Amino acid sequence: MAYIITERCVKCGACESECPNGAIVEEEKKFTIDYVKCVECGNCIDNCYNKAIDEI
Ligand code: SF4
Ligand code: SF4
Repeated sequence: MAYIITERCVKCGACESECPNGAIVEEEKKFTIDYVKCVECGNCIDNCYNKAIDEI
């Protein structure tokens, strides 16, 4: 299962600290996922209190 960080992201950073492979990158308006590094573990979606991450 792949994941996408949506426009609902409020840049709290909670997902970044829970990603085991450094795949979450801060951009100007939101965080995004580096799909080269993402191992699809699901930690980010489990830790986003804002439900800003969708499964795709
Ligand atoms: S935990 Fe959710 S709201 Fe916070 S930076 Fe990650 S995607 Fe954005
Ligand atoms: S699914 Fe896992 S490896 Fe991929 S961005 Fe989320 S926390 Fe990082």
